[in-house]
Amino acid sequence: MTNSPYLSQPLPAHGAPHGPLATYPAAPPQSPFGYGQPGHAPMPGCRVCGAQPAENFTVRAHQGLLVVMRFEKLDGPFCRTCGRAVVRQMTSRTLLLGWWSPLSLVAVTPFTLVWNLIAHRKFSKLPASMPAPGRQSLPEGAPVYRRPVAYVALIPVAWAVWAITGLITHAG
Ligand SMILES: [Zn+2]
Repeated sequence: MTNSPYLSQPLPAHGAPHGPLATYPAAPPQSPFGYGQPGHAPMPGCRVCGAQPAENFTVRAHQGLLVVMRFEKLDGPFCRTCGRAVVRQMTSRTLLLGWWSPLSLVAVTPFTLVWNLIAHRKFSKLPASMPAPGRQSLPEGAPVYRRPVAYVALIPVAWAVWAITGLITHAG
Protein backbone atom coordinates (compact mmCIF):
# COMPACT_ATOMS: atom_id res chain seq x y z
CA MET A 1 0.00 0.00 0.00
CA THR A 2 1.66 3.10 -1.08
CA ASN A 3 0.36 5.62 1.25
CA SER A 4 1.15 8.50 -0.87
CA PRO A 5 -0.11 11.70 0.44
CA TYR A 6 -2.01 13.75 -1.98
CA LEU A 7 0.79 15.80 -3.28
CA SER A 8 -0.35 16.48 -6.67
CA GLN A 9 -1.98 19.67 -5.77
CA PRO A 10 -2.26 21.89 -8.68
CA LEU A 11 0.08 24.74 -8.45
CA PRO A 12 -1.65 27.95 -7.75
CA ALA A 13 -2.23 29.48 -11.07
CA HIS A 14 -0.40 32.73 -11.24
CA GLY A 15 -2.81 34.75 -13.18
CA ALA A 16 -0.37 37.37 -14.06
CA PRO A 17 2.59 35.84 -15.75
CA HIS A 18 5.90 36.98 -14.51
CA GLY A 19 8.30 38.73 -16.65
CA PRO A 20 8.70 42.09 -18.11
CA LEU A 21 5.11 42.40 -19.07
CA ALA A 22 4.37 45.38 -16.96
CA THR A 23 3.11 47.80 -19.51
CA TYR A 24 4.13 51.20 -18.35
CA PRO A 25 3.05 53.76 -20.84
CA ALA A 26 6.38 55.29 -21.49
CA ALA A 27 5.57 58.72 -20.22
CA PRO A 28 7.75 61.35 -21.78
CA PRO A 29 9.68 63.27 -19.18
CA GLN A 30 7.83 66.49 -18.74
CA SER A 31 9.30 69.53 -17.18
CA PRO A 32 6.44 71.84 -16.49
CA PHE A 33 8.71 74.82 -16.24
CA GLY A 34 10.51 74.20 -19.44
CA TYR A 35 13.97 74.00 -17.98
CA GLY A 36 16.42 71.48 -19.14
CA GLN A 37 18.31 71.05 -22.29
CA PRO A 38 16.79 73.47 -24.71
CA GLY A 39 17.08 70.99 -27.53
CA HIS A 40 15.42 68.07 -25.81
CA ALA A 41 12.95 69.38 -23.30
CA PRO A 42 9.46 69.01 -24.70
CA MET A 43 8.05 72.47 -25.21
CA PRO A 44 4.76 73.03 -23.48
CA GLY A 45 2.01 73.62 -25.99
CA CYS A 46 -0.48 76.43 -26.04
CA ARG A 47 -2.57 76.42 -22.88
CA VAL A 48 -5.73 77.02 -24.86
CA CYS A 49 -5.46 74.73 -27.85
CA GLY A 50 -2.31 72.70 -27.26
CA ALA A 51 -0.65 73.95 -30.43
CA GLN A 52 3.11 74.03 -30.76
CA PRO A 53 5.19 76.00 -30.79
CA ALA A 54 3.99 78.31 -28.10
CA GLU A 55 5.58 81.33 -26.53
CA ASN A 56 5.61 81.44 -22.75
CA PHE A 57 4.69 85.05 -22.17
CA THR A 58 2.17 86.78 -19.95
CA VAL A 59 -0.55 89.07 -21.25
CA ARG A 60 -1.81 91.84 -19.02
CA ALA A 61 -4.84 94.01 -18.59
CA HIS A 62 -5.47 96.87 -16.24
CA GLN A 63 -8.51 98.67 -14.96
CA GLY A 64 -8.32 101.79 -12.91
CA LEU A 65 -11.60 103.16 -11.59
CA LEU A 66 -11.08 106.12 -9.28
CA VAL A 67 -9.47 104.46 -6.31
CA VAL A 68 -9.87 100.86 -7.31
CA MET A 69 -7.17 99.42 -9.45
CA ARG A 70 -7.50 95.99 -10.90
CA PHE A 71 -4.54 94.13 -12.36
CA GLU A 72 -5.16 91.16 -14.53
CA LYS A 73 -2.72 88.84 -16.13
CA LEU A 74 -2.92 85.63 -18.05
CA ASP A 75 0.18 83.47 -18.16
CA GLY A 76 1.22 81.58 -21.25
CA PRO A 77 2.23 79.60 -23.06
CA PHE A 78 0.13 80.68 -25.99
CA CYS A 79 0.42 79.81 -29.64
CA ARG A 80 0.35 82.50 -32.29
CA THR A 81 -3.42 82.58 -32.73
CA CYS A 82 -4.43 82.32 -29.10
CA GLY A 83 -1.70 84.70 -27.96
CA ARG A 84 -2.77 87.39 -30.38
CA ALA A 85 -6.41 86.83 -29.49
CA VAL A 86 -5.69 87.25 -25.78
CA VAL A 87 -3.56 90.33 -26.40
CA ARG A 88 -6.32 91.93 -28.44
CA GLN A 89 -8.96 91.15 -25.89
CA MET A 90 -7.00 92.35 -22.89
CA THR A 91 -5.59 95.40 -24.65
CA SER A 92 -9.05 96.50 -25.70
CA ARG A 93 -10.30 96.16 -22.16
CA THR A 94 -7.32 98.14 -20.89
CA LEU A 95 -7.93 100.90 -23.43
CA LEU A 96 -11.51 101.14 -22.26
CA LEU A 97 -11.11 100.82 -18.51
CA GLY A 98 -7.48 101.55 -17.87
CA TRP A 99 -7.53 105.33 -17.56
CA TRP A 100 -9.89 106.22 -14.82
CA SER A 101 -7.59 106.52 -11.86
CA PRO A 102 -4.64 108.93 -11.70
CA LEU A 103 -1.92 106.36 -11.16
CA SER A 104 -3.35 104.17 -13.87
CA LEU A 105 -3.38 107.02 -16.33
CA VAL A 106 0.23 108.03 -15.87
CA ALA A 107 1.90 104.73 -15.02
CA VAL A 108 0.11 101.43 -15.01
CA THR A 109 -1.85 101.63 -18.21
CA PRO A 110 1.01 102.87 -20.40
CA PHE A 111 3.14 100.08 -18.96
CA THR A 112 0.40 97.52 -19.64
CA LEU A 113 0.01 98.66 -23.22
CA VAL A 114 3.73 98.55 -23.93
CA TRP A 115 3.91 95.13 -22.31
CA ASN A 116 1.12 93.82 -24.53
CA LEU A 117 2.76 95.33 -27.56
CA ILE A 118 5.85 93.26 -26.77
CA ALA A 119 3.64 90.22 -26.21
CA HIS A 120 1.94 90.78 -29.55
CA ARG A 121 5.28 90.96 -31.33
CA LYS A 122 6.43 87.74 -29.68
CA PHE A 123 3.29 85.83 -30.63
CA SER A 124 3.36 87.22 -34.15
CA LYS A 125 6.82 85.75 -34.67
CA LEU A 126 5.53 82.23 -34.12
CA PRO A 127 4.48 80.14 -37.11
CA ALA A 128 0.79 79.57 -37.76
CA SER A 129 -0.90 77.49 -35.08
CA MET A 130 -1.88 73.89 -35.51
CA PRO A 131 -4.20 73.13 -32.60
CA ALA A 132 -3.98 69.73 -30.96
CA PRO A 133 -6.62 67.23 -32.14
CA GLY A 134 -10.04 68.07 -30.83
CA ARG A 135 -9.07 71.52 -29.64
CA GLN A 136 -9.53 74.94 -31.09
CA SER A 137 -7.62 78.14 -31.04
CA LEU A 138 -9.27 81.30 -29.85
CA PRO A 139 -10.79 83.51 -32.52
CA GLU A 140 -8.39 86.37 -33.08
CA GLY A 141 -11.09 88.92 -33.67
CA ALA A 142 -10.60 92.33 -35.14
CA PRO A 143 -7.36 94.21 -34.60
CA VAL A 144 -7.49 96.56 -31.66
CA TYR A 145 -7.46 99.70 -33.79
CA ARG A 146 -10.59 98.52 -35.55
CA ARG A 147 -12.54 98.20 -32.34
CA PRO A 148 -14.54 101.33 -31.44
CA VAL A 149 -13.83 100.63 -27.78
CA ALA A 150 -10.18 101.40 -28.34
CA TYR A 151 -10.96 105.03 -29.06
CA VAL A 152 -12.24 105.61 -25.57
CA ALA A 153 -8.54 105.96 -24.89
CA LEU A 154 -8.55 109.24 -26.79
CA ILE A 155 -10.59 110.88 -24.05
CA PRO A 156 -8.01 110.61 -21.25
CA VAL A 157 -5.18 111.20 -23.68
CA ALA A 158 -6.87 114.37 -24.91
CA TRP A 159 -7.48 115.38 -21.34
CA ALA A 160 -3.82 114.79 -20.46
CA VAL A 161 -2.67 116.84 -23.43
CA TRP A 162 -5.08 119.60 -22.48
CA ALA A 163 -3.92 119.54 -18.87
CA ILE A 164 -0.23 119.60 -19.79
CA THR A 165 -0.79 122.35 -22.34
CA GLY A 166 -2.60 124.31 -19.68
CA LEU A 167 0.27 123.88 -17.24
CA ILE A 168 2.79 125.06 -19.80
CA THR A 169 0.72 128.05 -20.89
CA HIS A 170 0.07 129.17 -17.35
CA ALA A 171 3.62 128.58 -16.27
CA GLY A 172 4.88 131.52 -18.33
ZN1 LIG B 1 -3.45 78.15 -29.07
